[in-house]
Amino acid sequence: MFSPKKRKRRVTRRRQRRRRRDHSVKAHSRPEERGVDFFSPSVAKYWRQRYSLFSRFDDGILMDEEGWYSVTPEAIAAAHAARATSLAGRGCPLVLDGFAGVGGNAIQFASRDCHVVAVDIDPQKIGFAVHNAKIYGVEDRIDFVTGDFFRLAPRLKGDILFLSPPWGGPSYRDFRSYTLDLLMPRDGYSIFQLAQQITPNIIMFLPRNVNLNQVEELSWLSSPPLKFEVKVQIFL
Ligand code: SAH
Repeated sequence: MFSPKKRKRRVTRRRQRRRRRDHSVKAHSRPEERGVDFFSPSVAKYWRQRYSLFSRFDDGILMDEEGWYSVTPEAIAAAHAARATSLAGRGCPLVLDGFAGVGGNAIQFASRDCHVVAVDIDPQKIGFAVHNAKIYGVEDRIDFVTGDFFRLAPRLKGDILFLSPPWGGPSYRDFRSYTLDLLMPRDGYSIFQLAQQITPNIIMFLPRNVNLNQVEELSWLSSPPLKFEVKVQIFL
């Protein structure tokens, strides 16, 4: 028999173990195995693309529902990272990822030996990003910060600023022309205005149906105007 104190400790430990197990089942298993109450049916599509999102998915990648539909596919994140390193010329730039999510982009920047400051307002996303970065063995090159990019921005430094703000969920595709006011939590002009106070080297990851005239206008907000480049990346 256990003393009441020992018994309580055993029960607490058992509960903690169960909570950890349930949590990882939720994050890993197929949406259709768990019904639609945890992830919505739209996540099923992303489940089929899991290895395009993270090639090491089976090593235990963790995501929540928003993570599933907002993580940058690995090949696209790798292309962003390649462009960032070529922008910086020699040496490895300090990359600031203002909306880091579950770490899709931060991991690829760090895989190119960049040092990354990864900010996200959602502590659970940051927890998953730390975990996912460990799977890729790059956690030492990333400083993870839970916080609001807009509040932190005046104090942040970086050679390259990478921005993938929320597009408003999968319904972004329904717009014939995706205008910058649809970006969240603030419109694209406000985000960019703040961004250019940090560095002129800004990479924004935007929907492929974005209104390109508006995006080009952003570069004129600076004086002198910034050089502007568009890369269209197709993800099948
Ligand atoms: N590029 C990321 C996905 C980013 S999705 C990846 O590959 O994983 C957009 C993220 O912006 C979400 O994780 C959301 O939590 C975060 N976010 C929303 N508002 C924010 C804010 N004010 N400051 C920082 N992060 C914010």
